[in-house]
This record gives sequence, structure tokens and C-alpha cells, in this order.
Amino acid sequence: MSHRSSVPLAWRRFEARYRLVGNRCLTCGTIYFPPNAICPKCRRKGKLEKYQLKGEGKIHTYTIIHAAPSGFEKRVPYCIAIIELDEGPKVLGEVVGDLTLLDIGARVRAVFRKIYEDGEDGIIHYGLKWELV
Ligand SMILES: [Zn+2]
Repeated sequence: MSHRSSVPLAWRRFEARYRLVGNRCLTCGTIYFPPNAICPKCRRKGKLEKYQLKGEGKIHTYTIIHAAPSGFEKRVPYCIAIIELDEGPKVLGEVVGDLTLLDIGARVRAVFRKIYEDGEDGIIHYGLKWELV
């Protein structure tokens, strides 16, 4: 019997990226984001189910970017951090808001923001950022 979803892979990736849907191993309780195909701890004994993360966590480590890649020059300086989610997984993302609050352990929450724009009247790309709270 196949356990593969009939939902196209692109949509599943979209869902994971924009809605913070990971998965959880029912055997050991470990939560994964992005979702893992198997639980590396339990392997064949693991049973994974979809898990909605709250989108809250704290800054594990961060760096301020002063030299941006092409297309991002107007935004420097900006902050990229590894966020440790309350549920355990760590994610990489941009931190926004009052950067004077920036510190290891500072609380953040996921917000849906413009990432970049293609040209003057181009397509606007959205994604998750992390706002200091
Ligand atoms: Zn497991």
C-alpha cells in the first residue's frame, strides 16, 4: 500500500513554507520542520502525522547582513537569524521589527511579509519573516 500523498509536491512545499506545517512522529513525539519523510530516530517504527507549528520561538543565533546579494541592496543592513521554534525545530529566516531588541533568546513570531519584487511593476514575492515581540 502506498502512503504517498496525491497532492502535488509543489503544493506540499508551498504549504510547509507559508503556513509552517511540519510533522510529528507519533512514536517518539519529535516535531520536524520542514516535514521529514521519515523519523530518523524511529525509522520504520515511526508514524508521522501533519503538525501545525504556532510560529513562535526565540533567536538561537543571528547575523547582520551589510553586503546584500543582487536585488537586495536597498534593504541593508538586515538581520538573518536561526529561530528556535517553541516546538523544537530550528529555521533560518529574516528578523524584522525593532532591531534594538535583537538578542540571543529574544522572542519572535512569524509574520507574512514581502520578500522581494521583480522590477518596477513586477511580481511581488511573499514569505515568512520573524518579527521581534
Ligand atoms: Zn520518532
